[in-house]
Amino acid sequence: MGKTALIVADMLNDFLDPDGSLYVGPSGREIIPFVAGKIEATRQSGGVVIFACDAHAPLDREFKYFARHAVKGTWGSQIIPELPVQPGDYRLDKTRYTAFYNTNLEEVLKQEEVAQVEVVGVCTSICVMETVKELFDRDLPTLVYREGVADFDPEAQAFALKHMERIFGAKVV
Ligand SMILES: [Zn+2]
Repeated sequence: MGKTALIVADMLNDFLDPDGSLYVGPSGREIIPFVAGKIEATRQSGGVVIFACDAHAPLDREFKYFARHAVKGTWGSQIIPELPVQPGDYRLDKTRYTAFYNTNLEEVLKQEEVAQVEVVGVCTSICVMETVKELFDRDLPTLVYREGVADFDPEAQAFALKHMERIFGAKVV
């Protein structure tokens, strides 16, 4: 059968706290209870919770495109207090949009014998979609929860959900 992994993308202070440097806005805060519920449900059912977290260098090239955010070791790079990491969960530091680039996500999925993946977090059209694209490349059945993802831009959110469903074969519920 294989396990289910829940990838929690970038639920960090800089994106979700109104004082964060790249605050997604109220739509980001609205998903927090849903994400917390999915995390708990995944743990309870023997699944694997994987927090994929931006952890940038102070002069990361990504800051050409976005305000400085989630610099490794700073408050902004910490997972929001509403979603405490528990023993058995994974936290992966990443420096690009996808949770696969320069991380050990691939090994974690293999070691844990993950057969399907669910994705929640921010931003839908950036880190969530880039990660879903790579899950598609690896033939891993993927599910995205509408209530569990948010974006700066509602149009980008709508496009990304459609694109992940039609082009990357994700189930969007
Ligand atoms: Zn980033």
